[in-house]
Amino acid sequence: MDNPSLIQRSLQHVWHPCTQMKRHETLPLVPIAKAEGVWLYDFEGRRYLDGISSWWVNLFGHGHPHIKAALRDQLEQLDHVMLAGFTHAPVVELSERLGALTGLGHAFYASDGASATEIALKMSAHYWRNTGRPEKCRFVGLAGGYHGETVGALAVTDIAIFREAYAPLVRLAATVPSPDARGAQPSESAVDVAHHAAAGLQSWLEQHHASTAALIVEPLVQCAAGMAMHDAAYLREARALCERYEVHLIADEIATGFGRTGTMFAHQQAGIRPDFICLSKGLTGGTLPLSAVLTTDAVYQAFYDDEVARGFLHSHSYTGNPLACRAALATLELFEQSDVLAHNAALAQRLDQAFAPLTQHPSVRHARRQGMIWAWDIDEGFDGTKPQPGFASRYARQAMAQGVVLRPIGNTLYAMPPYVLDAETAAHLAQGALAALQATLADKGDARD
Ligand SMILES: *Cc1c(COP(=O)(O)O)cnc(C)c1O
Repeated sequence: MDNPSLIQRSLQHVWHPCTQMKRHETLPLVPIAKAEGVWLYDFEGRRYLDGISSWWVNLFGHGHPHIKAALRDQLEQLDHVMLAGFTHAPVVELSERLGALTGLGHAFYASDGASATEIALKMSAHYWRNTGRPEKCRFVGLAGGYHGETVGALAVTDIAIFREAYAPLVRLAATVPSPDARGAQPSESAVDVAHHAAAGLQSWLEQHHASTAALIVEPLVQCAAGMAMHDAAYLREARALCERYEVHLIADEIATGFGRTGTMFAHQQAGIRPDFICLSKGLTGGTLPLSAVLTTDAVYQAFYDDEVARGFLHSHSYTGNPLACRAALATLELFEQSDVLAHNAALAQRLDQAFAPLTQHPSVRHARRQGMIWAWDIDEGFDGTKPQPGFASRYARQAMAQGVVLRPIGNTLYAMPPYVLDAETAAHLAQGALAALQATLADKGDARD
């Protein structure tokens, strides 16, 4: 199967995600033949380092032998069975382990992040209804928040381009200030920004708590907003406010979970316990679609009743798919087999050094890192001009020419690599990222976005 025919057939019949398809008249699709470790291989044998972990899902590299072996074994035993009225070992064991890791001992499953958001929102509102307070059915999220793109999830996703066309369909949630540390005045620290943002949340809750079911946050890093990072102090204040105003706290750890921010889960850096945790992306190590919503005994008990309608009557056909659960178990085993968090801390230091020339580049503003997430805002206007349109796509193309997959969000360049870089691949990533920046800034010819 040659590569041009795959491109043509894809453009003919595959509607690609998050894509204006007409753009592919000028930006070629990249057919991928195979993947191994940190590398994606095309049909010509060229390889590209997966610097964003295939949309933030991969943890231990592609085709990890331990996960592959677990999947093969599971396939021989049980491919799938419906989870209503039936159960199986992978889903039981995974739920036990996730409960032990988070202290939230009840797990509900779906297949994607947006569905996890929907489940958490529905469970929260239904909890209040079951406890005699049906008026608590509104939600509040942070400016720039991203929680997925189904109609329900868009209600709490504050990113205009994803939402505008569907505004009439969406029952919009309220938005309170983001604790994004880049908002600091010259005399302020990230903790000050967190404190101001928490004050904004407080004044909103003061007025609206009686009609509010839950606050939803992406702990420590608002990834889709452009890797906006905040101090853990915000999460502590938000937890206390949710407690005081009787509002659930939903931690959307879909992107930040599984070691990505330096701890197993980002909210743990604040020493808090959310009422709901949404997980997906890294949950299966980047192999199969699976998401989970974890919650407390208190929430679970509010649904436990003789009356059917007080139960959580939500389902997906593939809820708790055994193969996906087994991939998740194998991923958790990889965390147990070695001290992944300590390994990542050392790796991140080495990458900081490798990225130093990029961090010190005159066009870079707000160089920042949280765990295994690096971000740099590119100010193309260092020569006095406005940022050039189309930076993200122009940069992505230059990065591919350097053999790295890096796709900026607006003018924010970021790296979110798998945890298995060695000295050579770390150097390749850092050098490729810098060379692509230099090439992008030098070539202002094509201003298409
Ligand atoms: C990616 C993401 C989602 C949505 O997950 P999908 O599987 O793409 O639906 C939700 N929340 C956050 C924080 C995410 O990064």
